[in-house]
Amino acid sequence: MGKKIIFDFDGTLIDISERYYAVFCECCAAINISPLSKEKYLHLKRKGIKDAQILVQEYHLSSDRIINFKQYRNSILEESRYLDMDRLHQSVRPLLAELQEKKYELVLLSLRDNINNSVNQLKNLGISDFFSKVIFTGPVPVGQSHADRKYQRLVEHFLPHDFEGNYYVGDTATDIEASHKLGTKMILVGWGLGEMEKADKSKISFIVENFTDLRKILLSWP
Ligand SMILES: [Mg+2]
Repeated sequence: MGKKIIFDFDGTLIDISERYYAVFCECCAAINISPLSKEKYLHLKRKGIKDAQILVQEYHLSSDRIINFKQYRNSILEESRYLDMDRLHQSVRPLLAELQEKKYELVLLSLRDNINNSVNQLKNLGISDFFSKVIFTGPVPVGQSHADRKYQRLVEHFLPHDFEGNYYVGDTATDIEASHKLGTKMILVGWGLGEMEKADKSKISFIVENFTDLRKILLSWP
């Protein structure tokens, strides 16, 4: 059996902080509040605090206004003008090229609503061809967890046990839960906009802080 690696996209392979902050600012303008500084916003995001919680915590907004904010945010977050702000982490392309050359099977699994815009973004970044399968989940049905959505979409294309003992590289608690369901070894990357504090550490095999360490782990796979 070949070696398989599932990669998360947002935060893991690309830096999404510019987009997230720009969207936050546009949403604040839409409901007539002034945005937090970028530094403060990203600090809260890295602690795993969602935008809606930030609004409660920092602005004490009513639930009606928060619902408006969330709906507006979801409607613009994956527009191309914002996706264009994402930046591929510098070491991604050489790492994927090396893994592909060594015959690893690479799968991209990403929680995105807008599949068309996401596929185009991946093409524009020039990394589509490194993956044997690209799976953007589409919207998460009401009542389904993000981890279950990722799991469900993956097993539409593979057998549930196909990934057991293989690797999953991601940056959030959702990735950790999805990895756990799949029986993969979880590598949590520390450079995303992850939810490190909420992460269940017992389900993580490795935590890496840079691409050098990530590469070492993936290439020392026996
Ligand atoms: Mg992510």
